Amino acid sequence: MVICGGGPAGMMCGYLLARAGVPVTVLEKHGDFLRDFRGDTIHPSTLELLNELGILEPFLARPHQEVRFAEGELGDERIRVADFTHLPTHCRFIAFMPQWEFLDFMAGQARTVPAFTLRMRTEALGVMREGDRVTGVEVRSPSGEERLHARLVIAADGRQSVLRDRMGLEVQDLGAPMDVLWFKLRLRPGESPAVLGRIARGQVLVRLYRGDYWQCALIIRKGTFPDVQRDGLDAFRNRVATLAHRDGAEEIESWNDVKLLTVKVDRLRRWSAPGILFIGDAAHAMSPIGGVGINLAIQDAVATANLLAGPLRSRSPSLAELDRIQRRRAFPTRATQALQLFIQDHAIDPVLAGKTVFTPWIVALAQRLPVLQRIPARVIGVGFRPEHVRVSLFSTA
Ligand SMILES: Cc1cc2nc3c(=O)[nH]c(=O)nc-3n(C[C@H](O)[C@H](O)[C@H](O)COP(=O)(O)OP(=O)(O)OC[C@H]3O[C@@H](n4cnc5c(N)ncnc54)[C@H](O)[C@@H]3O)c2cc1C
Repeated sequence: MVICGGGPAGMMCGYLLARAGVPVTVLEKHGDFLRDFRGDTIHPSTLELLNELGILEPFLARPHQEVRFAEGELGDERIRVADFTHLPTHCRFIAFMPQWEFLDFMAGQARTVPAFTLRMRTEALGVMREGDRVTGVEVRSPSGEERLHARLVIAADGRQSVLRDRMGLEVQDLGAPMDVLWFKLRLRPGESPAVLGRIARGQVLVRLYRGDYWQCALIIRKGTFPDVQRDGLDAFRNRVATLAHRDGAEEIESWNDVKLLTVKVDRLRRWSAPGILFIGDAAHAMSPIGGVGINLAIQDAVATANLLAGPLRSRSPSLAELDRIQRRRAFPTRATQALQLFIQDHAIDPVLAGKTVFTPWIVALAQRLPVLQRIPARVIGVGFRPEHVRVSLFSTA
């Protein structure tokens, strides 16, 4: 079978299926995993899966940071939003690791499994069909164009999914009032390791601790990046410095240091058609709120391997079998997106509109009753309906 896309969903799904004895080829259009910043939060639910797979120890041997609390500043008030230290998981922290490092790790693990093949610089261009059934993909690689037949095509090609377009599937656009500008600031002496959000003067800045620097996200109104650029780099640096309580932001040397994430929240009405299944961002692009996109993509991958490894060993799964993935993962996807939309509409949108924002009563209460900080930690760190690895190694199956 063929998986299009070597992101978190594709790599995890490929690894699990190959481990279960299903011959898998993962196609990745890039030559390496070293790309722009694309988020690097590995949540406790994903760490739990790595533990179940027996690969947590080598994973944590790679450079990473461990963050146990999510904190914020509303105006001048410091608040703690989530406390991950009481989660019912092996690791009670979020691991921050660049996404390319995580993918490189997964590729290294997967390459030890004989049934796994990773083809880099190989781009899926479209699907092959017999009647209404997808029977493979057309690809372009350095050796030219070719057609790959497959029992099943899994589209894990991300939020700009080409295969989604080619299949003409209906997408529900749930809307997002914001875009995000990502950039780095150096860590200053005395600054503590935490996820830190700062809301002030109609602006939202989130800082993610990355050892010797902060990965920062400035939230802006949708479509206004050209206006920000028109105001000039100095104005941008000043804005950032004021929000981050610094005397400057000289480390932002040019607009090349600032990456735009066009925020999208959408989902497919149907995640499958005969011979093809969509998972991860290709099935549902998530808002960056909570930093859950990678982890949701991985949860889809685990559910897919759990439900399809059996049929895939001997035949093409039926459409009814493919639909089971959506039935299993639709609730966590919808629930997470609903929460993200609520926060977008009730917290972020009013701030961007310049309205005064007060600490929500529940957050204020959680400062006096810290046990309440465990609830958001659970939602962010573990999520709704966490998956567990149920597919065994082929040799012991
Ligand atoms: C700037 C930014 C910041 C983010 N921050 C966070 C964060 O902090 N935490 C978090 O959890 N999520 C974050 N996200 C979201 C997160 O990156 C995604 O939700 C997650 O990577 C989805 O995984 P995926 O495997 O479904 O898709 P992707 O990660 O998008 O992977 C798709 C892969 O398919 C490849 N591909 C695409 N088209 C083709 C093709 N035609 N043929 C072959 N290969 C193809 C791509 O090169 C890519 O490697 C962020 C995203 C961005 C852009």
